[in-house]
Amino acid sequence: MTTNDCLFCKIIAGEIPSTKVYEDETTYAFKDINPKAKVHVLIVPRTHYANVAELAKADPAELAHIVEVAQSIADKEFHGDYRLIFNTGLDAGQTVFHVHAHVLTGEQLDE
Ligand code: 5GP
Ligand code: ZN
Repeated sequence: MTTNDCLFCKIIAGEIPSTKVYEDETTYAFKDINPKAKVHVLIVPRTHYANVAELAKADPAELAHIVEVAQSIADKEFHGDYRLIFNTGLDAGQTVFHVHAHVLTGEQLDE
């Protein structure tokens, strides 16, 4: 997949609407369209990488930054506790091949 037909590249570019939660120079966070918790936010790097392993290899500082952003969302929404998920690969449930952190918070989560 090229960045041209990537759903999250289009969301980052504002070509497809989203509900922004946070943004800075390198990173964008928005509400998941199909929330699995009271607060379900997706955090993405503005640069396209297919998955978290590619991101970790190419730009580990950005991966660490995504964790910081997740923490700050959970600090604001739910006394700092959260679940952070990177589905990686089709058989793990990855459907959008632009790396994204799922942040689930805002309520006590099932195990
Ligand atoms: P994955 O299954 O790849 O780990 O996660 C993709 C996530 O993107 C899913 O949780 C899905 O609900 C969310 N999603 C898919 N399309 C859109 C969209 O157009 N807008 C938003 N905000 N979320 C989307
Ligand atoms: Zn992309």
